[in-house]
Amino acid sequence: MTSLAPGKPRILVVDDDEALLKTVSWILKEHGYDVIAVPGSRLLLEQLETSVPDLLLLDIMMPDLDGFEVLERIRGDDRWRDLPVLMISAMPPEEAAVRTLGLGASDFVPKPFRVRELLARIQAQLRVSDTLSRARQELRVTEVQLQRARDEAESRRQLVDILHEVTGDLSPDEIYHILVRRVARALNLSHCSLVFARPGDEMGTVATAYENPQLRDFEIRLDRYPEIRTALDRGEPVLIEDVLTSPLYEDVRRDWDRSGTVVSIRSVIALPFRVDRQLAGVFFLRTTRHETPLRRDDVEFADAVIKAAVAAIEKARVIERTKADKARLEMLAITDPLTLTLNRRALVDRLDEEMERARRYGLILTLLMVDLDHFKRVNDTHGHLVGDDVLRDVSMIIQREVRTVDIVARYGGEEFVVVLPETAEEGAVAFAERLRQRISEHRVAGEDGEEPLSLTVSIGVATFPSASIETTEDLISHADDALYRAKAEGRNKVRA
Ligand code: GH3
Ligand code: MG
Ligand code: MG
Repeated sequence: MTSLAPGKPRILVVDDDEALLKTVSWILKEHGYDVIAVPGSRLLLEQLETSVPDLLLLDIMMPDLDGFEVLERIRGDDRWRDLPVLMISAMPPEEAAVRTLGLGASDFVPKPFRVRELLARIQAQLRVSDTLSRARQELRVTEVQLQRARDEAESRRQLVDILHEVTGDLSPDEIYHILVRRVARALNLSHCSLVFARPGDEMGTVATAYENPQLRDFEIRLDRYPEIRTALDRGEPVLIEDVLTSPLYEDVRRDWDRSGTVVSIRSVIALPFRVDRQLAGVFFLRTTRHETPLRRDDVEFADAVIKAAVAAIEKARVIERTKADKARLEMLAITDPLTLTLNRRALVDRLDEEMERARRYGLILTLLMVDLDHFKRVNDTHGHLVGDDVLRDVSMIIQREVRTVDIVARYGGEEFVVVLPETAEEGAVAFAERLRQRISEHRVAGEDGEEPLSLTVSIGVATFPSASIETTEDLISHADDALYRAKAEGRNKVRA
């Protein structure tokens, strides 16, 4: 609109009276204005399209489009709304003044006018217009600042909210990293890290640092970081506005001088925190000399964020523990405690699944029933504890021999089941034979002073699909029958 640029103010003069137009133009130029003279209202609108002057001097009575209409159009267009318009006319002053001012003219000058009066009014208008445009400009700047402040408040609020919602899917390590990144971004910092240490510690551990994402569990000497020590000792945030002047940094500065260290850091905040009343440390925020220094309200904001973060970390830890407990319970529910293989119930479930898969995809599946020979004698001769050792050893051997897809379970006291998916009878018998061999070669350490003992197993083999096998129970019972034959035929044998 009105130009704030230094230089001559530009005045557009519109009058159908050519003689008057020339005279006024000349007078205005003489008084230091830049003048564009336009002989009629149509040309005026064209002229306005190309450039907007600082002031418009407009005659009311013109043949093509009178001044009132022109004024209406100008005020109706956003681009020209602020343009000061000074109306000039030979109309009776009262009537002209009322109508023009009503339409939004800035002022009215009756014809004939005195030069001094015209110049005074022009000057007054330009001053007003200049003040107005300055105020508009300031308002715009204020609005931008206000919007920025709102955005910042919103981003800070979001930041705190997001931290509240950090879930147990993240490990504390990941949370720490998200946290330093968010704080760094929210406060527009290049340096933000998380340091674990307790009051009185000589060393601290940098868990994670925004400025160096690769860095993890890096040890630092705390005597180089007086603000961290102070924050830990006092249990409250420490703000250092400038490390080059802060009394806290006196000793460190002496070291810098001695070693010729050039310091790029300027301001620092150390914010102490505590998780689960044990894990403790500080949040360590820093700015370089090129960045805006940290202030009191940054401390408050960061403190709020860290409180939220600590709550999130504690929550994450609870979830983690609960999950671990749940997983352990689930594990216990399916595991045989002595041999750590699957228990009978879990075996039945898994076997159902494998049978179903085999049925659906037309696959072969073989089950081995492995029973220790004369195991009762082990217990009777060496005691129950040695018996337990034997069971554990046998289960270890079986688990070592199988593939990862195979299933091993303790089916009864001294009976194991091995399920071999996608394995036909021939391969399964070969596998069973190898297993029988391995176990018979194995020696179990006896009691102190006793000879190591050896033992054998008998193995029954059954394969699905097969004429008389429909269900899981059928498969097990067929393997059991085969096992009975192996026992009957002298033990330490594989039968299918
Ligand atoms: P066979 O060759 O006919 O299988 O003879 P066996 O003695 O192995 O068979 P039997 O079924 O007569 O005896 C099984 C024994 O296994 C009886 C039981 O005390 C023992 N046993 C079962 N579970 C455990 C256990 O968890 N620990 C120990 N030490 N012994 C067990
Ligand atoms: Mg037995
Ligand atoms: Mg038995």
